[in-house]
Amino acid sequence: MSERRPKIYLNLSFPQLAARYAHLPADGVGLLRAEFLALSLGVHPKQLLAEGGAETFVRTFAEGLIEVARQFWPRPVTYRALDLKSNEYRGLRGGQQLEELEENPALGLRGCRRYMDDPELLRLQACAVRRVHEAGWTNVRLMLPFVRTVSEVLACREIVQEEGLFERGIPLWIMVEVPSVVFLIERFLPLVDGVSIGTNDLTQLVLGVDRDNPRLIPLWDEGDDAVMRAIGWVARACRERALECCVCGDAPSRRPELIPLLLQLGLTALSVSPEAFERTLRIVRESEPGSG
Ligand code: PEP
Ligand code: MG
Repeated sequence: MSERRPKIYLNLSFPQLAARYAHLPADGVGLLRAEFLALSLGVHPKQLLAEGGAETFVRTFAEGLIEVARQFWPRPVTYRALDLKSNEYRGLRGGQQLEELEENPALGLRGCRRYMDDPELLRLQACAVRRVHEAGWTNVRLMLPFVRTVSEVLACREIVQEEGLFERGIPLWIMVEVPSVVFLIERFLPLVDGVSIGTNDLTQLVLGVDRDNPRLIPLWDEGDDAVMRAIGWVARACRERALECCVCGDAPSRRPELIPLLLQLGLTALSVSPEAFERTLRIVRESEPGSG
């Protein structure tokens, strides 16, 4: 493993927040959640497309991304493609007609699987990322959410390829949030430029605990040995391939006492909420060899 200080990125949900936090000495944005951009449109993407709104969609996403890429330039900005669930899409105009009612949206048509069902949705986002890159903001990366299988990544890569992102050298990352990806991580790594571990969904799925059920709070533990072992397994596989391995879930933001352990597991980066940045930087510095 390289002995360089682990990178510390920021998690952002709204592009408008970039101006407020770009002054922090962070290494970039490790997770730009796209969901709020989609929600701000107020309409289901399929409905928008049916109304001839493809350009509105691409422009909205490209403008949001440019705002962040510009503020953080030349530091990398990781755009995480949409991971809305069917219940969230149903709240948008047209959503009631376009989304089937799912019993269990957290395990439903979300993440990469949605792009198998609706490739256009990824194509438009890839187009937005390319547009940002064409405009000179070459610090963007694309990250695929809630991956379950290698075949999903292969199918998404095809779309990304067709949209010209690889030609331009735009890195492709995946999120590791599902245990199947942890177990088979070595099959995924040749297909990507980096991974980011989503401890919110990973904890939910490793421990079998609904992340949104307040009655299960006593069972919720991102620091559980099983979760840590999963993270360590992924970090080791990445290290063997000299790939960046980040955690962008809330674990290091919410549970700072876990940071030294996460670093020992060999993560090369942490991505934290802006409020947690200063504290994370301090803990990372204190954890450096020879720091005292
Ligand atoms: C995660 O699951 O840890 C994550 C970062 O994604 P989200 O919280 O948006 O599901
Ligand atoms: Mg997630």
